[in-house]
Amino acid sequence: MAAQSPQLAAPRSRFIVVGGGIAGVTCAERLATEFPSDDILLVTASPLIKAVTNFKQVSRTLEEFDVEEQASSILEKRYPNIKVIQSGVKQLKSEEHKIITEAGQEYIYEKLCLCAGARPKLITERNPFVLGIRDTDSAAEFQKHLATAKRITIVGNGGIALELVYEIEGCEVIWAIKDKAIGNTFFDAGAAEFLIPKLSAVKPEPPIACKRTKYTTAGSEIEESAAGNPGEIGSALGPDWHQGLCLKGAKELSHKVHIESLCEVKKIFLQEEFQQSENVSLAFPRVQPDERNAEMDEEKWPVYVELTSGKIYGCDFIVSATGVIPNVQPFLDGNNFVLGKDGGLSVDKYMHTSLPDIYAAGDICTTSWEPSPVWQQMRLWTQARQMGWYAAKCMAADTLGEPTDMDFCFELFAHVTKFFNYKVVLLGKYNAQGLGSDHELMLRCTKGQEFVKVVMQNGRMLGAVLIGETDLEETFENLILNQMDLSCYGEDLLDPRIDIEDYFD
Ligand code: FAD
Repeated sequence: MAAQSPQLAAPRSRFIVVGGGIAGVTCAERLATEFPSDDILLVTASPLIKAVTNFKQVSRTLEEFDVEEQASSILEKRYPNIKVIQSGVKQLKSEEHKIITEAGQEYIYEKLCLCAGARPKLITERNPFVLGIRDTDSAAEFQKHLATAKRITIVGNGGIALELVYEIEGCEVIWAIKDKAIGNTFFDAGAAEFLIPKLSAVKPEPPIACKRTKYTTAGSEIEESAAGNPGEIGSALGPDWHQGLCLKGAKELSHKVHIESLCEVKKIFLQEEFQQSENVSLAFPRVQPDERNAEMDEEKWPVYVELTSGKIYGCDFIVSATGVIPNVQPFLDGNNFVLGKDGGLSVDKYMHTSLPDIYAAGDICTTSWEPSPVWQQMRLWTQARQMGWYAAKCMAADTLGEPTDMDFCFELFAHVTKFFNYKVVLLGKYNAQGLGSDHELMLRCTKGQEFVKVVMQNGRMLGAVLIGETDLEETFENLILNQMDLSCYGEDLLDPRIDIEDYFD
């Protein structure tokens, strides 16, 4: 009788981190430093991992760093006790403290941190003319389609849509937003008005450098090899994701953007279906906004978008930039996780999910602690890093039986980015989120140069939007953190002739 091969026990690890994006890699790095004699297992679906480099704390809460997509061997070389397993996790058996990968391998953990990110929430999953942008793979796919496109429709009003409408050239863009003003996630109507002229202005060459996190890939272009195999779940792209991508369509024109506000997509027709319908589509409007100019379109398009406003536009393809859905699915079966309102794994103030020994960080999680009055969760690069770092701190403290204090970065929401080639700093309740009507706004605006808005409540500053090189971020950050009563300064607070830093030194 043939001897039976002995059943190999699943490898055990004190710490397993799932996901090779910024949250997962940062978490694994910190654990590796705190527990140099333990092996830290990083299990990730993507062939490349994301690493934070050149990290700089520019002020108490604002940070800058570059992001590099690297081979996992580079991470393993830097941290010899990190072992990267490249395989997606297909199942979690939380009661057995076990994960099972797509490759069929099982691993036992003492503590697990789930950092599997999120994926684009597409307006429809089943239409080949609807693209989402999430990772290098989808960005390369988008670039390929754009190269031959004469007109596209962008749906959504968040950061990705804002960047796209500004960056794309050589192609007409119909931009459908459900809000009244552009960039609703980040701005109010005033800031949007300040930015809109940039959509018809000629773009500066080369791009102006700006303080912000920078996304880099190994080569100057996002290459096929970096994209991995089809179907693999890549890391989310980050700031400057479009650098190195040629976002140029098939036409000889600079910006050409038409905004359709207060509408959503009602129906999408493929060419044949549209031709069989009684509908007519509109030509690209010549002036914005111009109802009288609504001419019929003579051209045939591969796909047509009917908006809830009743207008129909034909285009080459549609970009769905309508937010993300946390990648929780593989972990839910048989595990009674509490989920947040937006579908993320609910985490308490120690980044702990509702299940024992399982933590979560980054885009996959939904924070459920009572936040500081001037902090809110947003699925951003910086928060993915901060949460990954803090989750590792909590896992370490739990393991060692030590107490943990909430990290200072959760005291104030602070984000630096770039929109329409302007430096943009967002602080605290920058859009008066959740403040009701009991607040006032103070504004200062120099057309084409800077836009400053502060949100005040009971004489205290609660938030700010700074567009352009205002140099006000550190002073305002302190004023929001200190909650000093500023009533006596009145309008002087934003008077450009007064150096307010002197006031508060
Ligand atoms: P991700 O980076 O998505 O990483 C998730 C990781 O988990 C990946 O490695 C993936 O392969 C892995 N994974 C997924 N499922 C599994 C599984 N079942 N098993 C194993 N591994 C799995 N943020 C900003 O702050 N500023 C910006 O300007 C900005 N621009 C953006 C532009 C684009 C186009 C996109 C898509 C995002 C942008 N973001 C921006 C958001 C930012 O990129 C994300 O918030 C951040 O990358 C989230 O990091 P993460 O580590 O949580 O998730």
